[in-house]
Amino acid sequence: MENKIVQGKSTGEWERQFPVISDIVSTKEVFWANPKVRKFSSAMKNISLGEKDVKDAEKRLKRFAPYIMKVFPETQKTGGIIESPTAKIPFMQRKIEAMFDEKLPGQMILKCDNELAISGSIKARGGIYEVLKHAEDLAVKNNLLKENDDYSVIDSSEFRKLFSKYSIAVASTGNLGLSIGIMSAKLGFKVYVHMSADARQWKKDLLRSKGVTVVEYKEDYSRAIVEARRQSLQDPDMYFVDDENSTDLFLGYAVAAYRLKNQLEEMNIAVDENHPLFVYLPCGVGGGPGGVAFGLKLVFKDNVHCFFAEPTHSPCMLLGLVTGLHDKVCVQDFGIDGITEADGLAVGRASKFVGKTMEELISGCYTVKDEKLYMLLSTLIDSENISLEPSALAGVLGSVQLLKSKAGKKYIKDNNLKDKMENSCHIAWATGGSMVPEEVMKSYYRKGRDILHRRFPDR
Ligand SMILES: *Cc1c(COP(=O)(O)O)cnc(C)c1O
Repeated sequence: MENKIVQGKSTGEWERQFPVISDIVSTKEVFWANPKVRKFSSAMKNISLGEKDVKDAEKRLKRFAPYIMKVFPETQKTGGIIESPTAKIPFMQRKIEAMFDEKLPGQMILKCDNELAISGSIKARGGIYEVLKHAEDLAVKNNLLKENDDYSVIDSSEFRKLFSKYSIAVASTGNLGLSIGIMSAKLGFKVYVHMSADARQWKKDLLRSKGVTVVEYKEDYSRAIVEARRQSLQDPDMYFVDDENSTDLFLGYAVAAYRLKNQLEEMNIAVDENHPLFVYLPCGVGGGPGGVAFGLKLVFKDNVHCFFAEPTHSPCMLLGLVTGLHDKVCVQDFGIDGITEADGLAVGRASKFVGKTMEELISGCYTVKDEKLYMLLSTLIDSENISLEPSALAGVLGSVQLLKSKAGKKYIKDNNLKDKMENSCHIAWATGGSMVPEEVMKSYYRKGRDILHRRFPDR
């Protein structure tokens, strides 16, 4: 690799200082344990957000539940609360053991955000939350709404008329645009979604069918977000959902943790000192996985171990955390192309806000080859009949990476987890998939099967 200068140091010097960078740059799969991770209580001393903020977000979502239930009838069964099921996946666990020749102790669980109502991905948490909060702020300011009102009144021409005077802009690789676009259009806002080149055609078509203005770019996400920010700065009535810096998005995602706690209790799954919980979260810019992981740390403290999962060709959060440069480095600085079929994770530069906030709370990161995402995709359909989009499979490889890699083994040993692995629970956060059109899903499935046949010709 040419020796480019990144923040005053050559890439060669960065590699010597942090040897894991060599493997990252060669787009090899890596598992990295975060040397800065600390006990929950000491890490929290440096973080301004806390339980109160997440509870506040949870209450706001409850206030909106009657409205959500009214305008999205598919949420009636959960009383207007947008939440996904949590499922055991024992057949998949056995398949993975065979595929990677690694015994997986404990139980494997899938958090099925692919089934989230309204937009079929993890973005239905943070994205929808931020739009609702903005709508509430405007309605309260205009004396149309009070906090103890029945929020189903928002489904009226009076409110739509108010919101139609305002607009919302966002940049997206696809799913954030879907959730912001669908929710904003439903409320009556004008919406602009700036889509990077990675965004799938069906996502753009779907948004346009809902009256959303989709602006397309030939470049990656970084360009789309610059343009979206620029557009919103020119219009005082335009609200910009800032995926790189938004605390509202982050808090909307974090609410998931309290709900997961209840679900695990209902499933009789213990999380305590002798029953560690491992959670593997597909990571793009960082808001979704960072917010969820933050909530999980608030709930389970030192008994939960959270890991970010990224494609080998777009490991922006990993590079940001390893070097401590966060948003001052992008994958292209190190000669990594940023090209991946995991469109939800195709981000070259991570959020500084998330990197900084999670710096001492996140246990580590690992990367996955696109090929494996497809292998896991078709295997999950065959074993459990669950269909996810490629990005959403990145979490499924977590336990294998933890148990197989040298750095993962060391993590287990250093944290005295070895004897507890039989009692452990491993949650792969399945971040999206239910909105993928059937014919697109079929082509993903075939691709996965083809890769498997090439790798294991006699199975
Ligand atoms: C957006 C997205 C992620 C990652 O969320 P970030 O906030 O970008 O880190 C993961 N999986 C899917 C399917 C997504 O759409």
